Amino acid sequence: MSLHVRDIETRFRTTAGEVHAVNGVSFDVGDGELVGIVGESGSGKSVTINSILGLIRTSGTITSGTATFGGRDLIAMRSRDLRKIRGAEIGFIAQNPFGALNPVLRLSRQFENVVRAHRRLDRKEIRRQALAMLGHVGIHQPERVLDGYAHELSGGMAQRVVIALALMLDPTLVVADEPTTALDVTVQKQILDLISTLVRERERSMLIITHDLGVVANYCDRVVVMYCGRVMEDGPVREVFRRPYHPYALALLRSVPRAGQALQTLGGRLPKLNAQPVGCLFRDRCPYRMDVCDRVTPPLREVSPGRKVSCHLDVEQEVPTLVAG
Ligand code: SF4
Ligand code: MG
Repeated sequence: MSLHVRDIETRFRTTAGEVHAVNGVSFDVGDGELVGIVGESGSGKSVTINSILGLIRTSGTITSGTATFGGRDLIAMRSRDLRKIRGAEIGFIAQNPFGALNPVLRLSRQFENVVRAHRRLDRKEIRRQALAMLGHVGIHQPERVLDGYAHELSGGMAQRVVIALALMLDPTLVVADEPTTALDVTVQKQILDLISTLVRERERSMLIITHDLGVVANYCDRVVVMYCGRVMEDGPVREVFRRPYHPYALALLRSVPRAGQALQTLGGRLPKLNAQPVGCLFRDRCPYRMDVCDRVTPPLREVSPGRKVSCHLDVEQEVPTLVAG
């Protein structure tokens, strides 16, 4: 099922004042599409996702926007109704698997709780399905794992269990927030191969958040590049990697780190987001800055079919290619 996000704005009240963490984010995840949201830490990736999934309703305020999923707006929805969609129709895989698992409940009980929140099935049938799913995510002794506790698992095993829980009800959209950051490099690849294979096999959609361009290049169809709570560029992975249009996307791709490493910090400072931001938020770090960039927020516009950029430049003419640069 497709997801259409439009103009999401999210703020937090902190002791240091209000923080405008997400500033008008729009993107789409089409049917059967794997989309990566990439950006440095602090770019608003997680807050965007948590806003859409109703996970910040107590700590932050979504001041505008819609997120349409199967014809329903998740932002306007009551928490109770959204909880029904989360888990059943949207599976969420969090960054830290141990944070997602209950330390004092046997895993069998956690599978029962997840399924019973949405379906009427007896314990025996849930156990049968849980064992099958654990086998599917590459757990060799599913009986033993199911009857044990989270602390008995390695990080990689725990993340496999979280994936199994997220896929138990066969959601049409899987959302994963840096699902392998807590794991070591060899396990990272196994887990990403696993999630993407399961999603593609079932012809489901996926939204994956990452700071790793390698993940986007290897697993995604489209990429959304975020910076300071805004979308800077959005397009097919192959095209954006071959020829980024936005100066920030260009800088990111030029600084491509080795697989598994965090993005290098670019020169210049990040703007403070404690007031309604005006102008281009990348301007302090942009070599192409013009007067208009200080005054006018560049809208996210379509520059060629399927490719969107928020920049005042005539990007096809004025931003150099990676090769020439
Ligand atoms: Fe640079 Fe201006 Fe484009 Fe922002 S809008 S990326 S400051 S040229
Ligand atoms: Mg995050």
